[in-house]
Amino acid sequence: MSEVSSLPWAKTDAGNAIGLYAKPGLDLSGKIAAALQRLQDASIQHGDGLIQSSSLGVEDMVITDLIARHRLTIDIATLDTGKLHAETLGLLPQIEARYGLKVQVFQPRNEQVIAFVRREGDDAMFKSIELRKACCGLRKLEPLARMLAGRSAWITGLRREQSGARAEVAFDEDDGQGRRKISPIADWSWAEVWSYVEQYALPYNALHDQFMPSIGCAPCTRAIAVGEDFRAGRWWWEDSSKECGLHAKS
Ligand code: SF4
Repeated sequence: MSEVSSLPWAKTDAGNAIGLYAKPGLDLSGKIAAALQRLQDASIQHGDGLIQSSSLGVEDMVITDLIARHRLTIDIATLDTGKLHAETLGLLPQIEARYGLKVQVFQPRNEQVIAFVRREGDDAMFKSIELRKACCGLRKLEPLARMLAGRSAWITGLRREQSGARAEVAFDEDDGQGRRKISPIADWSWAEVWSYVEQYALPYNALHDQFMPSIGCAPCTRAIAVGEDFRAGRWWWEDSSKECGLHAKS
């Protein structure tokens, strides 16, 4: 038996992520209608204060598609940490061409990155959890704070199925920083996500075809193995919660 066929949530008869994970004939209409209603409600409630913070992962591609397909006036933004895969960044022009939308890109402060790398090395994340978190802090958390400045709510692609740490994710919750965090597909399964991708022919990160269900920075992401959690490929060398702090509550 091949490694792929052993994955508990994978089929055996196809070579890409849609073939592996989408379920033929799955009726998604109820899940789509409910997710759309959550986005519409949030848009009415928060107006210009609402933004989608997209990781460019497949869940966020579904949400961007819902926003664009239904012409919701919700800004879309992403973080370019300076360590992303080319495949991830390659989605930006695809989104812009397909939907005619401009994705706002937030990057870390150059001087902070240069000083950190000079002091700790380019491989600092592997030296200790503290240094890994410091790298996430300056490459992710600081630009995220700028992304969310002046906003009252943000939209994420979190799903309860992704990990034990995310099992309680609510559709609308306090982010611990005085904002609402909206996760409209929190109750979707992996099969439902990929069935949506198939149904609407969405662009997606080609690394999902290589057994990377959760894609972060290139040095800190690897493919997962048989029976591992969705986020097991993130900071795989650590015995940690597999979170970078973007979704931590203070
Ligand atoms: S995921 Fe890795 S490279 Fe990216 S910010 Fe965190 S430690 Fe740095």
